[in-house]
Amino acid sequence: MRLDRSRALVVGGGIGGMAAALALARAGAQVTLHERAEAFGDVGAGLQVSANGQAALRSLGLCGDGPPAGAVLSEGTAIRAPSGRTVARVPPPRSGATWYIHRADLLSLLTEAATAAGVDMRMSSAVRPGSATAGAADLLVAADGGLSDWRGAIDARVRAQFTGQVAWRALLPGRGEARAPAVLAMGPGAHVVSYPLRDGSLRNLVAVEERRDFTGEGWRQKGDPEVFRRRFARFGAVLGHDLGALREVHLWGLHLRPVAARWQDGKRAALLGDAAHPTLPFLAQGANLALEDAVILGRALDLAGTIPEALARYEAARRPRAEAVVRLARGNAWRFHLRPPLSWGAQAVLAVGGGLLARGLERVYAYDPSEAPI
Ligand SMILES: Cc1cc2nc3c(=O)[nH]c(=O)nc-3n(C[C@H](O)[C@H](O)[C@H](O)COP(=O)(O)OP(=O)(O)OC[C@H]3O[C@@H](n4cnc5c(N)ncnc54)[C@H](O)[C@@H]3O)c2cc1C
Repeated sequence: MRLDRSRALVVGGGIGGMAAALALARAGAQVTLHERAEAFGDVGAGLQVSANGQAALRSLGLCGDGPPAGAVLSEGTAIRAPSGRTVARVPPPRSGATWYIHRADLLSLLTEAATAAGVDMRMSSAVRPGSATAGAADLLVAADGGLSDWRGAIDARVRAQFTGQVAWRALLPGRGEARAPAVLAMGPGAHVVSYPLRDGSLRNLVAVEERRDFTGEGWRQKGDPEVFRRRFARFGAVLGHDLGALREVHLWGLHLRPVAARWQDGKRAALLGDAAHPTLPFLAQGANLALEDAVILGRALDLAGTIPEALARYEAARRPRAEAVVRLARGNAWRFHLRPPLSWGAQAVLAVGGGLLARGLERVYAYDPSEAPI
């Protein structure tokens, strides 16, 4: 069906909401996107766009076969022990090298395309369930993130469970690497992932530690660079980077929430992105899944005769996929933090099985939302 003359409202201007707004505008709807923040701004740091996310971007017409300007191509992952010794090299997936991209750059790419497609952007505008603004739309897509208000209205309120893990996120000056491996350094009770961004002018760090005393959630919480340096001092050598250059860090308490059991209300409203399937960051799939959602929603609208039918097809196609990926990400959490002697065993397995590990993830990366059955 064409959505001509239908009024579509998208709640949330993150990667998921912006991609959905673009897909709906392409389907012919008059789209208004509401974002509660004042501006999109340069917020966030690195995202990994794997082959499945790349296929979604291509399907939305945002890139060809190559990466967008500034994105860095991965050469796989080097896995290092606390001594700095490389224990394994995991090659890039067979379905294609991952792109490392700044979240703000990916968001700009989507925002420009959505604006060109006619999406009306409203900043500083929070839309809550039951509001008059929400009531006026023929179709409503709630992409309001992992702390979604809309999930309570469409699915059910869920209680978050703190994992006892805290992620620190920071940017360091880079060395201009245009292609580079990511480094995953594992130590007892902590691990660090690092990779280049923006043509290598920046280096992204995500450092996860086990910590019972901190539960704060949200991407804008600032941490103390001195505390970060102290806690991760041993990783400076492992990563080969000068943590002294670090000026700003953000903290994020990792919480578990189940994938929504119900993604749409049977009438006109649907959840999308983290609002439907919050995930832990251990597989770097949050943004990729949100991009996949947007492409499948666009295809479901194209194929169905009515909006309720399209939303039912969207949910049926997306829920099993999101559940499988979220489960895999959750399974990775414990592997990275083993203490000796278990960690020696895990490292030995990685040393001989790095390639196998990559192949095991192939099902995640080989998914193409422009061709997946719906
Ligand atoms: C500020 C920020 C920084 C991030 N930085 C990183 C990063 O460095 N690395 C990484 O891997 N991931 C990061 N993420 C998460 C990552 O972008 C998402 O997990 C993924 O892209 C899925 O996006 P989403 O659109 O579903 O949700 P989100 O990216 O969480 O976007 C949800 C959006 O909805 C808005 N919103 C919420 N409620 C309302 C409402 N009632 N009305 C209107 N708007 C509302 C929020 O302000 C937000 O912009 C960040 C997210 C945010 C919001």
